[in-house]
Amino acid sequence: MAVPKKKVSKSRRDMRRAHHALTATNAQECPNCGELKLSHHVCGSCGFYDGRDVATEAAAG
Ligand SMILES: [Zn+2]
Repeated sequence: MAVPKKKVSKSRRDMRRAHHALTATNAQECPNCGELKLSHHVCGSCGFYDGRDVATEAAAG
């Protein structure tokens, strides 16, 4: 198994982790019901996507 040759200093470790920050999800308002939803996702509140009720359409077949 590969083993690091030298201990990584706090500075070098933290410099590596400088890129690890999470970004907030950009939720947008559903054009149908106004709830916050993720773009390119079906609305979890009303089940609409691209102006269609895909939740009940899928259930109806
Ligand atoms: Zn909606």
